[in-house]
Amino acid sequence: MNRETKLLHAGPISDEGFRSLSAPVTRASTIVFPSSDAFERRYDRFYDGYTYGLYGTPTTRTLEARLAELYDADHCLCLPSGQSATALALTSLLKAGDRVLVTSAAYGSTRSFCHDTLSRFGVETVLYKPAAGAGVARLIDERTRVIVVESPGSNTIEIQDIPAIAGAARAAGACVLADNTWASALNCNPLDLGADLVMEALSKHVGGHADLLLGALVTRDEGLYRRLKDTGRTMGLGISADDASLALRGLQTMPLRLEREGISALTLARWLQCRSEIGDVLHPALPNHPGHSIWRRDFQGASGLFSVRLAPPFQANVSAFVDSLKVFRIGASWGSTQSIVTPQLDVSANQALPVPGSNRIVRFSVGLEPVEDLQADIEAALNALVADVVHEHWIDEEGTITTRGRER
Ligand SMILES: *Cc1c(COP(=O)(O)O)cnc(C)c1O
Repeated sequence: MNRETKLLHAGPISDEGFRSLSAPVTRASTIVFPSSDAFERRYDRFYDGYTYGLYGTPTTRTLEARLAELYDADHCLCLPSGQSATALALTSLLKAGDRVLVTSAAYGSTRSFCHDTLSRFGVETVLYKPAAGAGVARLIDERTRVIVVESPGSNTIEIQDIPAIAGAARAAGACVLADNTWASALNCNPLDLGADLVMEALSKHVGGHADLLLGALVTRDEGLYRRLKDTGRTMGLGISADDASLALRGLQTMPLRLEREGISALTLARWLQCRSEIGDVLHPALPNHPGHSIWRRDFQGASGLFSVRLAPPFQANVSAFVDSLKVFRIGASWGSTQSIVTPQLDVSANQALPVPGSNRIVRFSVGLEPVEDLQADIEAALNALVADVVHEHWIDEEGTITTRGRER
């Protein structure tokens, strides 16, 4: 045999006597079979074996098994991003003529996927208020197949009554898809609250270092899992062993990271509540949060993501505030080791004072920096805000006085 052929066909040397603590990275497109008969029967093992690299390798299957275990579930399918996982779930569950109910606090791309894409395939989307609870029953008709919950909403942090919504869905034969990215499996298990399917963007807490994009769908329903797997195959969706390996690494430190960022975030939230420059602090562990009692009932903890509304005199000055932060870096996404700040549009209907240009909130993703550095950073930015804003007092025909901030 030629040396070239030997080089091409030499597999790895024996791994006998070798043991590592980490799952090996098994890269593959082609998977080889011992016989033509085994090759022809490969799809018998499609759902739990190996047929082609896109549909699973030992590394990606290990990640799926760990996540299924975390959710006390039987099945998990990993996808290239959280958004692709949501899109796959909805396209697997819906067909022309169906209706989907989506919480108005849902992740922006979830709402756009429904409104911009599913609408072109004859699916009707109805938004409902996150606080609706069992009241969603009024929006459920015989065409309603799916109800999307996201508790809390990842910008305005509304907590939803998932058991009540799941009860209404079950009565109508509809399916509940829960975006559990804020809590992760460690702080909430929507499957125990009645959801049929959980989506978690692994890009956030599981990845944990702002350098990974992955999503997961988790369920206890074998038929549903097979449907997702079949639809994902025809769409060509799969993940790389390298990405799966980074997620497996992230899972090892996730409990410690979540605990640390959760404690720091709550410390900051409590402190911010006492600052006059801050209007609302949107954090479910605060007793005055409207969803606090449901959060205590259904969640085991809070993550490091929360938001604030600036007090009315400063509501038009979100950009100035965000721009003067130095430790918090400006960007989208969250759940990384470094703290991130995001100026976000406030889409909630119950905004207290609609001052022009004020419909923005400040979202903090608290990372692993010592909390005093984060507090000092925010404090300096708040002080700068007070120094930079001229207060203008307006009086209307009824004699109501409003105070607005204008930059000096
Ligand atoms: C980030 C995020 C997603 C989407 O995840 P990607 O991996 O970035 O596509 C979905 N839902 C929520 C709540 C998120 O925060």
